[in-house]
Amino acid sequence: MTTIIDGNEVASEVRGELEGAIGTLADRGVTPGLATVLVGDDPASETYVNMKQRDCEEVGIEGIHVDLPGDASSEELYDTIEELNADPEVHGYLVQDPVPNQIDYREVIRRIDPAKDVDGFHPENVGRLVAGDARFKPCTPHGIQKLFEAYDVETEGADVTVVGRSDIVGKPMANLLLQKAEGGNATVTVCHSRTEDLAAKTRNADVVIVASGVTELVDGSMLSEGATVIDVGISRVDADNEKGYELVGDVEFESAKEVAGAITPVPGGVGPMTRAMLLYNTVKAASEAEDVPVEL
Ligand code: NDP
Repeated sequence: MTTIIDGNEVASEVRGELEGAIGTLADRGVTPGLATVLVGDDPASETYVNMKQRDCEEVGIEGIHVDLPGDASSEELYDTIEELNADPEVHGYLVQDPVPNQIDYREVIRRIDPAKDVDGFHPENVGRLVAGDARFKPCTPHGIQKLFEAYDVETEGADVTVVGRSDIVGKPMANLLLQKAEGGNATVTVCHSRTEDLAAKTRNADVVIVASGVTELVDGSMLSEGATVIDVGISRVDADNEKGYELVGDVEFESAKEVAGAITPVPGGVGPMTRAMLLYNTVKAASEAEDVPVEL
């Protein structure tokens, strides 16, 4: 029987654990604050930001949202960043990616106070992660580590293939798996669009993590019997339903499920974990900024 890894359930456990920490902060008069900045009106980004705000409200984090027009200049965005860096009620914030072309996203990230960079994208935080001294683990890979914990997926000594080398998923995931630490100690293969014979790399793995943005790139024929399969991909494809679209992952679920030992669905797998770990990082940021120790 293939285990369907339930991200909603594990995310709700993480959120439950956070409530204790949020209570400890409240006892000391601290409400964690998370700000989201959206430049333009990309519908998918709007949906993500709305979900993040709703999540905050549900767990007792103060959500603050800043909307900038799609034609905002870099300077306007930098002004917003300076304000958020200076605002003591904002413990963490993020600028929703993608930003319009006139804005240099890398420069935006460099200007965020690393202590408030709850996405974990600032070069200082990337360096700390690689050095094995992470301040904020990026939310998606951290969420995947939590799924492994919850489902007893052993990474130590395992062959893990990560498909994708983006700065937000593939690279930090590979780094975490490589660390000499709990949730690491794996032998890691990282694949990308120039990888030759992808199937050979995925078939050789005990754990396959796919974050390519290519719908159904990996199917059952590319997996070894009993492998754990983590599908990070979320693509909107047109569908004949009320919304007019459906969400599709980077793994062909039906064929993969026949071979895998455990697999995440889309939706309901990695997505809820990414959201939960953003709340986790915000609580951590508040605890450190306000010098109130909490259990995380
Ligand atoms: P990017 O587009 O930044 O990176 C995609 C990576 O996949 C690149 O490294 C690319 O290689 C590689 N790739 C593309 N095509 C192939 C191929 N045919 N074979 C092997 N590798 C390939 O995407 P992200 O990492 O930001 O996101 C990946 C997916 O995950 C998207 O669907 C995104 O929506 C989703 N996502 C989901 C999250 C969640 O919470 N569930 C969170 C974040 C993202 P190269 O570097 O050579 O271009």
